[in-house]
Amino acid sequence: MNSFTYVRARNQAEALSSLKDAKFSLPVFKGGGLDLVDHMKEGLIAPDALIDVRGVRGEGDLAGNGPDAVEMKGEVIRFPAAMTLAQAANSAVLRKFAPVVAMTAGSAATPAVRNVATVAGNLLQRPRCWYYRNSQFNCLKKGGSTCFAVEGENAYHAIFSTGSSPGPCHIVHPSNLAPALMVCDAVVHTVGNADRKEIPIGKLFHGPEKGVTSEHTLEAGELITHITMKARPVSGFYAIKEKQSFDWPLVFACVAIEMAGERIGKAEVVAGAVAPVPWALPAVAAALKGVDPKDERALTEACALAGKGAKPMRDNGYKVGLLSVAVKRAVMKAAGVAIAGEEGR
Ligand SMILES: Cc1cc2nc3c(=O)[nH]c(=O)nc-3n(C[C@H](O)[C@H](O)[C@H](O)COP(=O)(O)OP(=O)(O)OC[C@H]3O[C@@H](n4cnc5c(N)ncnc54)[C@H](O)[C@@H]3O)c2cc1C
Ligand code: SF4
Repeated sequence: MNSFTYVRARNQAEALSSLKDAKFSLPVFKGGGLDLVDHMKEGLIAPDALIDVRGVRGEGDLAGNGPDAVEMKGEVIRFPAAMTLAQAANSAVLRKFAPVVAMTAGSAATPAVRNVATVAGNLLQRPRCWYYRNSQFNCLKKGGSTCFAVEGENAYHAIFSTGSSPGPCHIVHPSNLAPALMVCDAVVHTVGNADRKEIPIGKLFHGPEKGVTSEHTLEAGELITHITMKARPVSGFYAIKEKQSFDWPLVFACVAIEMAGERIGKAEVVAGAVAPVPWALPAVAAALKGVDPKDERALTEACALAGKGAKPMRDNGYKVGLLSVAVKRAVMKAAGVAIAGEEGR
């Protein structure tokens, strides 16, 4: 790892000016530093300045620490980009008014990681594809000419593609939080780009057909300050994992519903770990309308649509079936219906 300068920015102005400082040739923002330092250790990136943005304060910023960094005004929830996943998981406001976000944050990684990882860093973390993460493989995402996952080990890769044909890169989006924020209609607030200050969460990410070497639409020097989103008190998350801690999910689903009496009046469903971006499932959302979440047969039928359009690779066809189960259980979690065998979990 090369040497670098560490800058602790105290406010937005310091963060932005440090990034433009001519004495640095490759300065980068740093949240908790978990993904960034992993990249540096693997030799995938060699910044000469890390601008720590966890202390950024100022107009439009929230504190980012304290027992509950989350504010709620009317139906709008607001929290700082530097809030940790642990704070999100434990926030009384999120647990009550957007449980899908608290559950999703609380299920990511390990307690040690959650205590350090920030919301912005989680959204912007790079993919987990093992060819990408290994400096020995110069794949398409790193400017090479091949996607090694096509002929290689692709058990954890995408089953849906964002372009008209699968590829060119088959990553799954790594963030747990992104699909949860999508079902809450979140907006990402930024500084550092004169032309825009707000990005709807769905527009923060792009598929590989729109640029294979990056996953998000932020420009260099654009700093995420905070997130706003709508309250979704009836919402839930379900992940299927090989192991319950220290691992990313095989598939997961985030669901927000509005009940009309005993039945679902409206639903939003977004899946994770199945596509290069958080993957909205509008057909499932439409099929859920009118379903009583306690009616297991009707629920299973609606959620079976989750895998429609999937084009699995050689080793990841198992994700198609798992996805329907994850969506069904996320709806049950949201609606407070017990899942057999998971009482007390
Ligand atoms: C063992 C393990 C298991 C894990 N399991 C999961 C899991 O199940 N689900 C999951 O979602 N994640 C998981 N992770 C990943 C972890 O959650 C991320 O690495 C972490 O959230 C990154 O956050 P950070 O604050 O450390 O980001 P950093 O590493 O500091 O930054 C990541 C990127 O975001 C940029 N950045 C940071 N803050 C800002 C900002 N305010 N504005 C603009 N750019 C910014 C940085 O420049 C960098 O490019 C796991 C990690 C480990 C080690
Ligand atoms: S899936 Fe993407 S990141 Fe992985 S090897 Fe292929 S091009 Fe590289």
